[in-house]
Amino acid sequence: MSSISTESTAFRAALDVVRAVEPRVADAIKQELADQRDSLKLIASENYASPATLLAMGNWFSDKYAEGTIGRRFYAGCQNVDTVEAVAAEHARELFGASHAYVQPHSGIDANLVAFWAVLAARVEAPALEKAQVRHVNDLTDADWATLRRALGDQRMLGMSLDAGGHLTHGFRPNISGKMFEQRSYGTDPASGLLDYDALRAAAHEFRPLIIVAGYSAYPRLVNFAKVREIAEEVGATLMVDMAHFAGLVAGKVLTGDFDPIPHAHIVTTTTHKSLRGPRGGMVLCQPELAEQVDRGCPMVLGGPLPHVMAAKAVALAEARTPEFRDYAQRIVDNSRALAEGLLSRGAKLVTGGTDNHLVLIDVSSYGLTGRQAEAALLDSGVVTNRNSVPQDPNGAWYTSGVRIGTPALTSRGLGTTEMDTVADLIHTVLENTAPGTTKAGTPSKATHVLDEKVAARVAGAATELLSGFPLYPNVDLG
Ligand SMILES: *Cc1c(COP(=O)(O)O)cnc(C)c1O
Repeated sequence: MSSISTESTAFRAALDVVRAVEPRVADAIKQELADQRDSLKLIASENYASPATLLAMGNWFSDKYAEGTIGRRFYAGCQNVDTVEAVAAEHARELFGASHAYVQPHSGIDANLVAFWAVLAARVEAPALEKAQVRHVNDLTDADWATLRRALGDQRMLGMSLDAGGHLTHGFRPNISGKMFEQRSYGTDPASGLLDYDALRAAAHEFRPLIIVAGYSAYPRLVNFAKVREIAEEVGATLMVDMAHFAGLVAGKVLTGDFDPIPHAHIVTTTTHKSLRGPRGGMVLCQPELAEQVDRGCPMVLGGPLPHVMAAKAVALAEARTPEFRDYAQRIVDNSRALAEGLLSRGAKLVTGGTDNHLVLIDVSSYGLTGRQAEAALLDSGVVTNRNSVPQDPNGAWYTSGVRIGTPALTSRGLGTTEMDTVADLIHTVLENTAPGTTKAGTPSKATHVLDEKVAARVAGAATELLSGFPLYPNVDLG
């Protein structure tokens, strides 16, 4: 076990070494910890990785090229990279009960690209090679290759709509996924705000997608993956689940049975730095029939793997296999529910009327505000959130009508349900005291807000006071 002196010594020594070369970077690193310690972090996609995870990244693994897979590299001297990649993959398989894990993706978006191309390779490219009776794309005639390239670019994907909580990488035009696939979206029922499985089924039957993507960044309820798999089977689609946001809840066995994506999806992607609390990165888990194609992620869409980050993934995944992590995952959801209750009891309006996971989506239109105004007023008061669309958002994706808040980070600091009620009170106090602002010319503006400085200062003070009881990285004293 690490102690105050071990962790402090490790980080202080590292900063001294950095400071000798570029003091501004050392100072920024130090200041970042101070700032994080002082802010009430409610960003649903952020967390605090353990010192062991952070320290596993800062070393000479960063110097290695290791294209290929474990034991089959295009570079010599990868025996130690093989060790860390194998340990990370083993922890991932055992933690999630998956038959195959690929831990090289550098981020969530990269994990999704690996998954899309694995499915395209298995379902479009492999049959074309078989038909032409060749083993490798290089052996196709120019005419057959041209036909295959067109086929690869002419596939369909059905994903959750952005304003219902889906993600840009699920086939939306500004992202490469939207340029690769013809996309259609499914959404939520306007009355309940809940995922509309009947509409999803109807869309799947009409559109006949190659891939159905389930998973979200801003949906506060559970998804029944067994039901989505049933729909995928009906239309012969591959089910891909992007659990980037809620992987920690899957790892911690809060999401089980129909709500655990692993047994139901053909392929699952995730980030490792959100509720899973690891280093920044991504990962793909899949059923055996896609394993070979997934392992071609590098060099298909990824550059050389980041061995130092894979080392940190191995450490974080080992942590996620402990009883403490299960307890942590349950507390994330308990806290999220308490936060929702606290807001509802003070009169706030929440999308779907509450939460079953790690996040809450406040519809701030009931306070007369746009998401942008609410986000800025909260930031003035030391509360860090992000604005987010609500279903059928009248203010669009830039100004929005919602604020998304999540509990993974504060739960890592040790705050509990009692503190969540206090946090709800701080948020409500800010929003209730904020008014829409005007432009310089005096016309109404969706971007500016008016908040009494005294209220902002009082809330910021209360937030600091609350956080002082829950020190962040308590074993790290940088002096
Ligand atoms: C965060 C997120 C991603 C992207 O992860 P990055 O690591 O930022 O690339 C992809 N999908 C979903 C659902 C996410 O929430």
